[in-house]
Amino acid sequence: MMVGNNHHYPVNPEVNVPMKCPNCQSKDIGKIGINQYYCWGCYIELSLSKGVIHTHQVEEDGSLSSLDDLFDEEERRLS
Ligand SMILES: [Zn+2]
Repeated sequence: MMVGNNHHYPVNPEVNVPMKCPNCQSKDIGKIGINQYYCWGCYIELSLSKGVIHTHQVEEDGSLSSLDDLFDEEERRLS
């Protein structure tokens, strides 16, 4: 699926979301949607499902590719 506009992230993100990026450990996380977040530290998108953070890289064409293989589920679980 193609997304029409390039670089549509982040869209007016809220800050101070109480979670930590599993990739860069930054707490500088902006909220971009329901259960969707954006890391300002390493520019990946995070989504939250059942208390587990899922990680996605935003490609140049706007598509997302999963980075979950890089992290253990333990690392991605919200404590
Ligand atoms: Zn990060």
